[in-house]
Amino acid sequence: MDEKAVPRKAEKLVGVKGMNDILPPESARWEWFESMIRVCMARYAFRNIRTPILEHTALFVRGIGEVTDIVEKEMYSFEDRSDKHGQAEHLSMRPEGTAAVVRAVVESNLLYDGGKRLFYMGPMFRREKPQRGRYRQFHQVGVEALGFAGPDTDAEVILLATSLWKMIGLTDVRLELNSLGQPAERAQHRAQLIAYFEKHVDQLDEEAKRRLHSNPLRILDTKNPAMQELVAGAPRLLDFLGTESLAHFEGLKAILDANGIAYTINPRLVRGLDYYNLTVFEFVTDRLGSQGTVCAGGRYDDLVVQIGGKPTPAVGWALGIERVLELLKEQGGQTPLQVPHAYAVVPDAAAMPQVLRTLQQLRELGVCVQMHAAGSEGMGSFKSQFKKADASGAAFALVFGADELAQGQVTVKHLRDGVGTQTMQPLAHVAQWASSLQFNA
Ligand code: ATP
Ligand code: MG
Repeated sequence: MDEKAVPRKAEKLVGVKGMNDILPPESARWEWFESMIRVCMARYAFRNIRTPILEHTALFVRGIGEVTDIVEKEMYSFEDRSDKHGQAEHLSMRPEGTAAVVRAVVESNLLYDGGKRLFYMGPMFRREKPQRGRYRQFHQVGVEALGFAGPDTDAEVILLATSLWKMIGLTDVRLELNSLGQPAERAQHRAQLIAYFEKHVDQLDEEAKRRLHSNPLRILDTKNPAMQELVAGAPRLLDFLGTESLAHFEGLKAILDANGIAYTINPRLVRGLDYYNLTVFEFVTDRLGSQGTVCAGGRYDDLVVQIGGKPTPAVGWALGIERVLELLKEQGGQTPLQVPHAYAVVPDAAAMPQVLRTLQQLRELGVCVQMHAAGSEGMGSFKSQFKKADASGAAFALVFGADELAQGQVTVKHLRDGVGTQTMQPLAHVAQWASSLQFNA
């Protein structure tokens, strides 16, 4: 071979840090999980919504809150080139789903005929320090129920999550609950909280000091071990709730109790996003280190107004797909196998027109067939083709040998029955035998 004809190997390019490829066979786990999500959402009559990856930065600043980790330092934001006449736009890749769902719902007036139950699934982007369970592109499934004020809907979204855990066999999560009350109740608590932390200002870390007057509630959410004791002694928001907020909380607990759903009240559960009121909750595990929150959510009755809509109560949650799948793996869950029903062995490439015609018919009848094709070394020997057929996991080999083809037939060889039973099948009547291939060994 002429050496000059071989292209020179270029320098390898790598993906962006914290953004992962999801490859087979692992992607089978993702597909399986996504199909479970669809089944589960249908059972609860939650409908799919899909919003763009890019939004105006202002949406997240308003929706998530200016003094949050996400908006302060984690967003992928940029100034878009300006259109011919217009101004340059400040855009961000979505770091979460709720703000965009609310934007879309308000923009399309989706609530004109009543409340809506929605779910989404897709990639989110945050410039965080990549580590196990924490990535820069990660994937969420989220539910949002808009237009429903009662604790029954809080309970329904929690029940939906528990039913999903059951479907996928996730056992190692526990539910933590809290109530953040209403803004007026939070204001009273906030004053006392600031006074408490000011008294112990020497024990606050830099981040807490910075948040002391802008967002003191978030100090309760600190992951700094040195501050845990201080935080444990802080005034509890639950003690500031009025009768209505308490009744809402009790209403939720009664439904969870009636369903046998175990939970613990965590008075320090505040959530990282600003828009929550009343119910907040997290499903947590001890098995993923400090990335232990698998699913988190709560009520956000004021967000729709903040995004320019009419006052609308709302509640939802989001789960991290990577964390759920890692936890399942941790529990010993196997990657689902993806195997074809049959593998087409083609001793002579000259038969391809006939082979592909038959495979096309089989596939249209629902048979999953992996085809043998030539690599840079040609088709390979009969023996090596059979090795590949075996490795594919297929239950049958379809052998398109010259002798069979001459008689208008194909040999169907069972690869998993221990004896290699063979039959000849007519190419002219594929529909007669296609269904006999459709099972996995
Ligand atoms: P954490 O406290 O772990 O940073 P968060 O409060 O920022 O989580 P939310 O914004 O509530 O998380 O997102 C909901 C869920 O999305 C989380 O419970 C988690 O499962 C997942 N999640 C959030 N950030 C990431 C990330 N960077 N990588 C992978 N999953 C994530
Ligand atoms: Mg976070």
